[in-house]
Amino acid sequence: MPLVNERELLLPALKERRAVGAFNANNMEMVQAFIWAAEETSKEIGRPVDLIIQLSPGASKYAGWALGAGMVKIAASETDVRVALNLDHATEVDQVKKALDMGFTAVLFDGSALPFEENVKLTRQVVEMCHQKGVPVEAELGKIPKIEDYFSPAEIANLRKLPAPEAVQAIRAKAGKSVEELMAKPEDVEYFVSKTGCDFLAAAFGSIHGIWDDIWPVRVDRLVAIQNRTSLPLVSHGSSGILMAPKDAREKGIKLAKGEGTLLDAIQTGGVTKVNVATILSISFIEGFVKAYQANPSEKDFRKLGGPARDRVKEKTKEYIRLFAGLA
Ligand SMILES: [Zn+2]
Repeated sequence: MPLVNERELLLPALKERRAVGAFNANNMEMVQAFIWAAEETSKEIGRPVDLIIQLSPGASKYAGWALGAGMVKIAASETDVRVALNLDHATEVDQVKKALDMGFTAVLFDGSALPFEENVKLTRQVVEMCHQKGVPVEAELGKIPKIEDYFSPAEIANLRKLPAPEAVQAIRAKAGKSVEELMAKPEDVEYFVSKTGCDFLAAAFGSIHGIWDDIWPVRVDRLVAIQNRTSLPLVSHGSSGILMAPKDAREKGIKLAKGEGTLLDAIQTGGVTKVNVATILSISFIEGFVKAYQANPSEKDFRKLGGPARDRVKEKTKEYIRLFAGLA
């Protein structure tokens, strides 16, 4: 079917305390993996699974804006899964204009690098532009940092080798205080939402972009305080790194401090309705590709490597979809 407006996916999800996965695509194989994951999970659970496919400005530049969006539109037209196409982390008005021209059905405008009032002003401008075309806008309050803000690539490579509790401890030691300070302040929520007119709120609640595995606890207490100030759907960023469910914290030996919780807690008690997952899917693709190549280093056919990479992305996506549907 044609692309669906993201509002139509998120508002019912909020009422039902479930989340819709928003997965970042960088190539054709990933678009297919997401759609097939949604199709297969729909069959498995006996009800329709909705899907948000995201292209960042970087991915849109990599694929070409028309080809990137075109690929998602065509894939959506060939499935019964309801698919919204979101522009992830736009930081410039020009990127939003391009997305509107290309038929994206949602936009995240990320003004979090700007001073607060400038973020409000520019987000308002983007909201006015998008609403003229009926396209909803997600806005960012507080700042969701990247792991690279705190660690060098070499340090990250070392962290990835550590057992999960030690990696968490190292991240807490170096980044914990800063991440906490960057979180959205509940007292800013009503002002920010009413002044910008945004439709969905990506409020920082302690997650970090770019963590390679699901090990990091988030501040569900802050999320609940934010949720008490707005009825908008909330969005989780940096979700690849967030512990998926309480059982994972136990299994991985990660102790949650007071007020901390997992992605499942964020959905069930914190009002998170859209969950962005990018890093872990990118890693899944790379691992699938490399593993297939290592198994057959004389392989010349791209499809023999791209296929297994796509399968791995699909399986990881299904894990998330099951969690969001409340089944994991
Ligand atoms: Zn993000």
